Amino acid sequence: MLTYLNGPESDPFNYIYASKGWLSDYDPPRPFPFWINLEPTNHCQLNCLFCSRQKSKRAKGYLELALAEAIFDQVAQEPGTAVRFTGWGEPLLHPRIGDLCALVKERSIPLKVYTNGLNLSPALMERLIELEVDDLQFSMQGLNEEQYLFNRVGSDYGLLVKNLHMASEMRGKLKKPFLSILTSVLASELKKASPREFTDRYLGVVDKVAIDLTNLNFVADLPRVKPYLEAQSKGLRRGLCVDVFLALEVKYDGTIEFCGQDADGLKEHQAGHFPQDRLKEAWLGKAMEAQRDKVGRKLGHEASPVCRRCYHNTDKYDMFKEKAGNDGGSE
Ligand code: SF4
Repeated sequence: MLTYLNGPESDPFNYIYASKGWLSDYDPPRPFPFWINLEPTNHCQLNCLFCSRQKSKRAKGYLELALAEAIFDQVAQEPGTAVRFTGWGEPLLHPRIGDLCALVKERSIPLKVYTNGLNLSPALMERLIELEVDDLQFSMQGLNEEQYLFNRVGSDYGLLVKNLHMASEMRGKLKKPFLSILTSVLASELKKASPREFTDRYLGVVDKVAIDLTNLNFVADLPRVKPYLEAQSKGLRRGLCVDVFLALEVKYDGTIEFCGQDADGLKEHQAGHFPQDRLKEAWLGKAMEAQRDKVGRKLGHEASPVCRRCYHNTDKYDMFKEKAGNDGGSE
Protein backbone atom coordinates (compact mmCIF):
# COMPACT_ATOMS: atom_id res chain seq x y z
CA MET A 1 0.00 0.00 0.00
CA LEU A 2 1.68 3.15 -1.26
CA THR A 3 0.52 6.76 -0.89
CA TYR A 4 2.16 9.95 -2.16
CA LEU A 5 1.50 13.44 -0.88
CA ASN A 6 2.01 14.99 -4.33
CA GLY A 7 1.77 12.08 -6.72
CA PRO A 8 4.37 9.63 -8.05
CA GLU A 9 5.97 12.35 -10.22
CA SER A 10 7.23 14.03 -7.04
CA ASP A 11 9.39 10.97 -6.27
CA PRO A 12 13.03 11.58 -7.27
CA PHE A 13 13.19 7.95 -8.36
CA ASN A 14 10.09 8.05 -10.51
CA TYR A 15 12.45 8.10 -13.50
CA ILE A 16 13.27 4.49 -12.50
CA TYR A 17 9.74 3.41 -11.56
CA ALA A 18 8.42 4.76 -14.86
CA SER A 19 11.19 3.17 -16.95
CA LYS A 20 10.74 0.40 -19.43
CA GLY A 21 11.99 -2.73 -17.73
CA TRP A 22 11.09 -1.74 -14.19
CA LEU A 23 8.37 -4.29 -13.42
CA SER A 24 7.58 -5.51 -16.94
CA ASP A 25 9.62 -6.24 -20.07
CA TYR A 26 12.67 -6.78 -17.87
CA ASP A 27 14.01 -9.90 -19.60
CA PRO A 28 16.62 -9.99 -21.18
CA PRO A 29 18.28 -8.12 -18.30
CA ARG A 30 19.49 -4.55 -18.64
CA PRO A 31 23.22 -3.94 -19.24
CA PHE A 32 23.45 -2.65 -15.65
CA PRO A 33 20.95 -2.67 -12.74
CA PHE A 34 18.62 0.20 -11.86
CA TRP A 35 19.95 0.09 -8.28
CA ILE A 36 23.14 -0.81 -6.49
CA ASN A 37 22.15 -1.57 -2.90
CA LEU A 38 25.14 -1.03 -0.68
CA GLU A 39 25.52 -1.93 2.99
CA PRO A 40 27.46 0.71 5.00
CA THR A 41 27.47 -1.59 8.05
CA ASN A 42 25.75 -4.59 9.58
CA HIS A 43 25.91 -3.07 13.06
CA CYS A 44 22.56 -2.03 14.58
CA GLN A 45 21.46 -0.79 17.99
CA LEU A 46 18.09 -2.61 17.92
CA ASN A 47 16.90 -6.19 18.34
CA CYS A 48 13.83 -6.30 16.12
CA LEU A 49 11.37 -9.19 16.21
CA PHE A 50 11.51 -10.02 12.51
CA CYS A 51 15.15 -9.25 11.73
CA SER A 52 17.52 -11.90 10.37
CA ARG A 53 20.44 -10.17 12.08
CA GLN A 54 19.50 -11.92 15.32
CA LYS A 55 20.47 -15.24 13.69
CA SER A 56 23.26 -14.06 11.42
CA LYS A 57 26.77 -15.33 12.14
CA ARG A 58 28.40 -12.97 9.66
CA ALA A 59 31.24 -10.86 11.12
CA LYS A 60 30.25 -7.28 11.94
CA GLY A 61 32.00 -4.47 10.15
CA TYR A 62 31.90 -1.20 8.24
CA LEU A 63 32.27 -0.36 4.55
CA GLU A 64 35.73 1.12 3.91
CA LEU A 65 35.78 4.41 2.06
CA ALA A 66 38.34 3.22 -0.50
CA LEU A 67 36.14 0.23 -1.40
CA ALA A 68 33.10 2.51 -1.58
CA GLU A 69 34.91 4.92 -3.94
CA ALA A 70 35.86 2.08 -6.28
CA ILE A 71 32.20 0.96 -6.34
CA PHE A 72 30.91 4.48 -7.01
CA ASP A 73 33.47 4.94 -9.82
CA GLN A 74 31.91 1.98 -11.61
CA VAL A 75 28.33 3.11 -10.92
CA ALA A 76 29.15 6.59 -12.26
CA GLN A 77 29.97 5.04 -15.65
CA GLU A 78 26.35 3.86 -15.90
CA PRO A 79 24.16 6.99 -15.99
CA GLY A 80 20.74 6.51 -14.38
CA THR A 81 21.81 3.79 -11.97
CA ALA A 82 21.20 4.89 -8.39
CA VAL A 83 22.72 3.87 -5.06
CA ARG A 84 20.74 2.88 -1.97
CA PHE A 85 22.46 2.74 1.43
CA THR A 86 20.67 -0.14 3.06
CA GLY A 87 21.58 -3.70 4.15
CA TRP A 88 21.59 -5.63 7.42
CA GLY A 89 22.45 -2.81 9.78
CA GLU A 90 21.67 0.83 10.46
CA PRO A 91 23.42 2.93 7.78
CA LEU A 92 23.66 6.02 10.00
CA LEU A 93 25.81 4.06 12.50
CA HIS A 94 28.64 4.16 9.96
CA PRO A 95 31.05 6.68 11.55
CA ARG A 96 31.63 8.37 8.15
CA ILE A 97 28.13 8.15 6.69
CA GLY A 98 28.22 11.82 5.67
CA ASP A 99 31.47 11.26 3.78
CA LEU A 100 30.02 8.17 2.09
CA CYS A 101 27.07 10.26 0.91
CA ALA A 102 29.48 12.93 -0.36
CA LEU A 103 31.41 10.34 -2.40
CA VAL A 104 28.18 9.31 -4.14
CA LYS A 105 26.87 12.80 -4.77
CA GLU A 106 30.18 14.24 -6.03
CA ARG A 107 29.89 11.66 -8.84
CA SER A 108 26.34 12.88 -9.60
CA ILE A 109 24.84 9.51 -8.68
CA PRO A 110 21.25 9.59 -7.36
CA LEU A 111 21.21 8.45 -3.71
CA LYS A 112 18.61 7.04 -1.35
CA VAL A 113 19.49 6.45 2.32
CA TYR A 114 17.54 4.09 4.60
CA THR A 115 17.52 4.66 8.35
CA ASN A 116 15.73 3.66 11.52
CA GLY A 117 15.84 7.39 12.29
CA LEU A 118 17.34 7.17 15.77
CA ASN A 119 20.79 8.57 14.97
CA LEU A 120 19.69 11.40 12.72
CA SER A 121 21.16 14.50 14.40
CA PRO A 122 20.47 18.05 13.16
CA ALA A 123 24.15 18.28 12.08
CA LEU A 124 23.87 15.14 9.96
CA MET A 125 20.55 16.27 8.51
CA GLU A 126 22.16 19.58 7.54
CA ARG A 127 24.91 17.69 5.73
CA LEU A 128 22.43 15.48 3.87
CA ILE A 129 20.57 18.62 2.75
CA GLU A 130 23.81 20.32 1.63
CA LEU A 131 24.86 17.22 -0.29
CA GLU A 132 21.46 17.05 -1.99
CA VAL A 133 20.81 13.46 -0.99
CA ASP A 134 17.74 12.56 -3.03
CA ASP A 135 15.66 10.46 -0.65
CA LEU A 136 15.81 9.68 3.07
CA GLN A 137 13.62 6.73 4.01
CA PHE A 138 12.61 5.99 7.59
CA SER A 139 12.01 2.32 8.40
CA MET A 140 9.28 1.56 10.91
CA GLN A 141 7.13 -1.35 12.03
CA GLY A 142 3.49 -1.50 12.99
CA LEU A 143 0.79 1.15 12.70
CA ASN A 144 1.06 2.83 16.11
CA GLU A 145 3.46 3.27 19.02
CA GLU A 146 2.49 0.05 20.76
CA GLN A 147 2.95 -2.04 17.63
CA TYR A 148 6.20 -0.25 16.77
CA LEU A 149 7.74 -0.98 20.17
CA PHE A 150 6.57 -4.59 20.10
CA ASN A 151 8.47 -5.13 16.83
CA ARG A 152 11.39 -2.73 17.22
CA VAL A 153 12.67 -4.05 20.51
CA GLY A 154 14.93 -1.51 22.23
CA SER A 155 13.79 1.47 20.19
CA ASP A 156 12.50 4.90 21.22
CA TYR A 157 9.32 5.88 19.36
CA GLY A 158 9.35 9.43 20.73
CA LEU A 159 12.90 10.00 19.44
CA LEU A 160 11.99 8.63 16.02
CA VAL A 161 8.95 10.90 15.71
CA LYS A 162 10.99 13.90 16.93
CA ASN A 163 13.66 13.20 14.30
CA LEU A 164 11.05 12.75 11.57
CA HIS A 165 9.66 16.22 12.30
CA MET A 166 13.16 17.68 12.60
CA ALA A 167 14.09 16.32 9.16
CA SER A 168 10.85 17.59 7.67
CA GLU A 169 11.28 21.10 9.10
CA MET A 170 15.01 21.44 8.35
CA ARG A 171 14.67 20.71 4.65
CA GLY A 172 12.23 23.61 4.47
CA LYS A 173 10.40 24.71 1.39
CA LEU A 174 12.79 23.08 -1.08
CA LYS A 175 11.49 19.69 0.10
CA LYS A 176 14.87 18.07 -0.48
CA PRO A 177 15.66 15.38 0.38
CA PHE A 178 12.38 13.70 -0.45
CA LEU A 179 11.25 11.97 2.76
CA SER A 180 9.55 8.61 2.92
CA ILE A 181 8.38 6.09 5.48
CA LEU A 182 8.20 2.35 5.00
CA THR A 183 6.45 0.43 7.74
CA SER A 184 5.57 -3.24 7.77
CA VAL A 185 2.90 -5.04 9.75
CA LEU A 186 1.91 -8.37 11.19
CA ALA A 187 -1.43 -9.74 9.95
CA SER A 188 -2.72 -9.53 13.54
CA GLU A 189 -1.78 -5.82 13.69
CA LEU A 190 -3.81 -5.05 10.58
CA LYS A 191 -6.90 -6.19 12.48
CA LYS A 192 -6.24 -3.79 15.35
CA ALA A 193 -5.14 -0.58 13.63
CA SER A 194 -5.91 1.24 10.43
CA PRO A 195 -3.32 1.61 7.64
CA ARG A 196 -5.23 4.68 6.48
CA GLU A 197 -4.89 6.37 9.87
CA PHE A 198 -1.16 5.61 9.88
CA THR A 199 -0.78 7.14 6.43
CA ASP A 200 -2.82 10.22 7.37
CA ARG A 201 -0.72 10.75 10.51
CA TYR A 202 2.56 10.97 8.59
CA LEU A 203 1.72 12.18 5.09
CA GLY A 204 2.64 15.85 5.15
CA VAL A 205 5.54 15.26 7.53
CA VAL A 206 6.92 13.03 4.76
CA ASP A 207 6.16 12.81 1.05
CA LYS A 208 5.46 9.11 0.72
CA VAL A 209 4.17 6.39 3.03
CA ALA A 210 4.44 2.71 2.14
CA ILE A 211 3.00 -0.18 4.15
CA ASP A 212 4.21 -3.73 3.63
CA LEU A 213 3.72 -7.13 5.23
CA THR A 214 6.45 -8.22 7.69
CA ASN A 215 8.33 -11.34 6.68
CA LEU A 216 8.94 -13.66 9.65
CA ASN A 217 10.14 -16.63 7.61
CA PHE A 218 13.85 -16.02 8.13
CA VAL A 219 13.44 -16.18 11.92
CA ALA A 220 10.61 -18.74 11.93
CA ASP A 221 12.19 -20.99 14.56
CA LEU A 222 12.53 -18.30 17.23
CA PRO A 223 10.07 -18.77 20.12
CA ARG A 224 9.01 -15.11 20.18
CA VAL A 225 8.03 -15.31 16.49
CA LYS A 226 6.16 -18.63 16.43
CA PRO A 227 2.76 -17.34 17.64
CA TYR A 228 2.55 -14.98 14.61
CA LEU A 229 3.94 -17.20 11.91
CA GLU A 230 0.94 -19.05 10.53
CA ALA A 231 -1.28 -16.00 10.07
CA GLN A 232 1.61 -14.13 8.48
CA SER A 233 2.14 -16.37 5.47
CA LYS A 234 -1.15 -18.21 5.22
CA GLY A 235 -2.23 -18.67 1.62
CA LEU A 236 0.45 -16.42 0.08
CA ARG A 237 1.01 -17.31 -3.56
CA ARG A 238 4.46 -16.93 -5.07
CA GLY A 239 5.30 -15.41 -8.43
CA LEU A 240 8.48 -15.18 -10.50
CA CYS A 241 11.25 -13.08 -8.95
CA VAL A 242 11.54 -9.68 -10.58
CA ASP A 243 14.23 -8.43 -8.21
CA VAL A 244 17.04 -10.30 -9.98
CA PHE A 245 16.40 -8.11 -13.04
CA LEU A 246 16.38 -4.81 -11.17
CA ALA A 247 19.11 -4.49 -8.54
CA LEU A 248 22.41 -5.84 -7.29
CA GLU A 249 23.38 -6.08 -3.62
CA VAL A 250 26.84 -5.37 -2.21
CA LYS A 251 27.69 -6.16 1.42
CA TYR A 252 30.05 -3.93 3.42
CA ASP A 253 32.99 -6.29 2.70
CA GLY A 254 32.43 -6.32 -1.07
CA THR A 255 30.45 -9.56 -1.28
CA ILE A 256 28.04 -9.21 -4.22
CA GLU A 257 24.69 -10.96 -3.80
CA PHE A 258 21.62 -11.69 -5.91
CA CYS A 259 19.45 -9.55 -3.65
CA GLY A 260 19.26 -8.15 -0.13
CA GLN A 261 17.33 -10.98 1.49
CA ASP A 262 20.34 -12.89 2.80
CA ALA A 263 21.75 -11.56 6.10
CA ASP A 264 24.46 -14.24 6.20
CA GLY A 265 26.30 -13.68 2.93
CA LEU A 266 25.75 -17.34 1.97
CA LYS A 267 27.89 -18.73 -0.86
CA GLU A 268 24.73 -20.04 -2.59
CA HIS A 269 23.43 -16.48 -2.85
CA GLN A 270 26.57 -14.80 -4.15
CA ALA A 271 27.08 -13.26 -7.60
CA GLY A 272 30.73 -12.35 -7.02
CA HIS A 273 33.08 -10.35 -4.89
CA PHE A 274 34.14 -6.74 -5.33
CA PRO A 275 36.74 -5.57 -6.42
CA GLN A 276 37.93 -8.89 -7.89
CA ASP A 277 34.70 -8.92 -9.91
CA ARG A 278 33.50 -5.73 -11.53
CA LEU A 279 29.84 -4.93 -10.81
CA LYS A 280 28.95 -5.30 -14.46
CA GLU A 281 30.65 -8.71 -14.68
CA ALA A 282 28.71 -9.91 -11.64
CA TRP A 283 25.43 -8.50 -13.00
CA LEU A 284 25.81 -10.25 -16.36
CA GLY A 285 27.79 -13.20 -15.00
CA LYS A 286 27.02 -16.90 -14.88
CA ALA A 287 25.92 -17.03 -11.22
CA MET A 288 23.43 -14.18 -11.61
CA GLU A 289 22.10 -15.62 -14.85
CA ALA A 290 21.66 -19.04 -13.24
CA GLN A 291 19.73 -17.38 -10.41
CA ARG A 292 17.50 -15.63 -12.96
CA ASP A 293 16.83 -19.00 -14.57
CA LYS A 294 16.06 -20.52 -11.19
CA VAL A 295 13.66 -17.95 -9.70
CA GLY A 296 13.12 -15.26 -12.34
CA ARG A 297 12.08 -17.52 -15.20
CA LYS A 298 10.92 -20.54 -13.20
CA LEU A 299 9.57 -21.06 -9.71
CA GLY A 300 12.65 -22.85 -8.42
CA HIS A 301 12.60 -21.08 -5.06
CA GLU A 302 12.55 -24.25 -2.95
CA ALA A 303 16.05 -25.13 -4.18
CA SER A 304 17.51 -22.01 -2.56
CA PRO A 305 17.97 -21.61 1.23
CA VAL A 306 17.14 -17.91 0.86
CA CYS A 307 14.47 -17.80 -1.86
CA ARG A 308 12.29 -20.44 -0.23
CA ARG A 309 11.71 -18.01 2.65
CA CYS A 310 11.26 -14.90 0.53
CA TYR A 311 8.10 -12.77 0.55
CA HIS A 312 8.97 -10.70 -2.50
CA ASN A 313 6.82 -11.19 -5.58
CA THR A 314 3.99 -12.86 -3.71
CA ASP A 315 0.38 -11.67 -3.65
CA LYS A 316 0.92 -10.19 -0.15
CA TYR A 317 -0.55 -6.80 -1.09
CA ASP A 318 -3.98 -8.37 -1.50
CA MET A 319 -4.23 -8.29 2.27
CA PHE A 320 -4.10 -4.49 2.17
CA LYS A 321 -6.72 -4.26 -0.55
CA GLU A 322 -9.16 -6.11 1.70
CA LYS A 323 -8.22 -3.89 4.62
CA ALA A 324 -8.56 -0.71 2.59
CA GLY A 325 -12.00 -1.89 1.51
CA ASN A 326 -13.02 -2.46 5.09
CA ASP A 327 -11.87 1.04 5.97
CA GLY A 328 -13.75 2.56 3.11
CA GLY A 329 -10.50 3.76 1.57
CA SER A 330 -8.21 2.53 -1.17
CA GLU A 331 -4.88 3.26 -2.79
S1 SF4 B 1 13.26 -14.86 -4.77
FE1 SF4 B 1 15.37 -15.11 -4.11
S2 SF4 B 1 16.58 -13.74 -5.41
FE2 SF4 B 1 14.42 -13.11 -5.58
S3 SF4 B 1 14.18 -11.47 -4.05
FE3 SF4 B 1 13.59 -13.40 -3.08
S4 SF4 B 1 15.44 -14.15 -2.06
FE4 SF4 B 1 16.05 -12.60 -3.55
